[in-house]
Amino acid sequence: MKTYKMVKSAFPDFIELIKTKGKLFGPVKQKSKYSFEEISDVKDLDFDYQRTVLGVKKFLTPPKYKTLTFNKEGTKDIIDEPETNIVIGVHPCDIHAVKILDRLFLGNIKDPYYASRRENLTIIGHSCLPDDKCLCQSTGTDMVEDGFDLFLTELDDYYLVWVGSDKGLALTIAASDLLSEDISDETIREYVRWQQKRSSMFKTVMPSFKYMADIITLNYDSEIWEQFGEKCLSCGTCSLVCPTCNCFNVDDKILMNAEEGFRERMLDSCTLPYYSMVAGDHDFRPDRTTRLKLYYTHKLKEYIGRWGQPGCVGCGRCVTYCPVDINVLTVSEALFGEVCETKEVCE
Ligand code: SF4
Ligand code: SF4
Repeated sequence: MKTYKMVKSAFPDFIELIKTKGKLFGPVKQKSKYSFEEISDVKDLDFDYQRTVLGVKKFLTPPKYKTLTFNKEGTKDIIDEPETNIVIGVHPCDIHAVKILDRLFLGNIKDPYYASRRENLTIIGHSCLPDDKCLCQSTGTDMVEDGFDLFLTELDDYYLVWVGSDKGLALTIAASDLLSEDISDETIREYVRWQQKRSSMFKTVMPSFKYMADIITLNYDSEIWEQFGEKCLSCGTCSLVCPTCNCFNVDDKILMNAEEGFRERMLDSCTLPYYSMVAGDHDFRPDRTTRLKLYYTHKLKEYIGRWGQPGCVGCGRCVTYCPVDINVLTVSEALFGEVCETKEVCE
């Protein structure tokens, strides 16, 4: 992987250059929250954040969009040529989330809507420092080696610029006046010191996380699920903010003239009522407990069986936004606590 140095005073010029390559989005503070918004002025960018409300999935699987139109003659796919979007300031956990989405949507059966948006998205990562809701050290997603086009590690008065793809390389060639290849031993030492400092800043650890797939299996009938189910409001927030949750519903809408219509795809959540409703009004998961079990079993166990890693990247959004404190941390701790109590396996 090619690496460059960029002094911070060159950053505004770098942003101006990037803006000539596509529509630029980055973290912007809005009241107390952050979101990826279009950037017209470098001053709007605020990298001093832990998590945006929505991750990069908002560029790849928007909450709602039309996929085809139909009339009496037949159907017509709507795969718009998306704009070239560049998103800067993406943290390692969110890049891992995109890698998970890529595996799902660009695997054996390629989703053309996702593929076209992904093709036109450039990801520029940015280093971060954790708060007490960041779980990525426990989920093994606090560092990232690929899945980005460029990655900026912010050190004292310069950035280390890591190149992760041909697209990223093309950007560095265009920005060659702003970059230097002078990576000295002192630069390397400073980088290692920064990484060590960052590692020591993680306050919340989930030692049980690596056993979670087994613990969920062993505790599948535990009363803990009922306790969480009683509290859950079925609001769906946890999956809407989760950067790896990607379930969607499809709805055909017929226009008033009854001659034509369109098909719409919208994000869905397995924690919402009617998610598992099928023809004949049969609902496989009518209660909150079974829906929560599905959410966590899928995320923390089934993903591992299928993809070799959990579907949680430790971003802390569910920790931040669930109104009743049901999240990957509280669920993992409760299930692990149950095993500890009954089987005396942990101190
Ligand atoms: S389960 Fe929670 S911590 Fe894990 S990726 Fe989803 S929102 Fe982030
Ligand atoms: S677990 Fe929390 S965020 Fe998720 S549906 Fe239930 S109440 Fe809403």
